[in-house]
Amino acid sequence: MSRRTSRPRRSTGTAAPAPRTMADAPCPCGLPATYAECCGRLHAGAAAATCEALMRSRYTAFVVQDAAYLLRTWHPDTRPPTVDFDPGLRWTGLEILAVTEGSPFHTTGTVTFRAHYTDDGRPDSLHERSRFVRHESHWVYATAVFVE
Ligand SMILES: [Zn+2]
Repeated sequence: MSRRTSRPRRSTGTAAPAPRTMADAPCPCGLPATYAECCGRLHAGAAAATCEALMRSRYTAFVVQDAAYLLRTWHPDTRPPTVDFDPGLRWTGLEILAVTEGSPFHTTGTVTFRAHYTDDGRPDSLHERSRFVRHESHWVYATAVFVE
């Protein structure tokens, strides 16, 4: 996923009480864990065991605007010089649709996903198959196989 994005989700006076910190909040990637237990571990330096884990952590990095994480998990051949976040975009959910290879025993893999967002309040989604490769023993994002 290479799309520009927005600032982190904020709860603004809705029914659910806001978590005190991002670490305690449900992970934006959708797994039933807190950010600190899930993608936050990877953002803090833990290695992603699978392509799917890396994909989830990169989605979450767009949500929390961790440009450094996005850049260090991008293959050097395709990595942009910087990542900019579009202030009008809010990422609202991730669906993993299919995974090929990408296990701890593979060197390549793909993840097909739909990432939901609002663009200036208008709901939309990004449907992409991303290709991941191992680079210096770590999974990195290589390129999009297709994007719709
Ligand atoms: Zn997560």
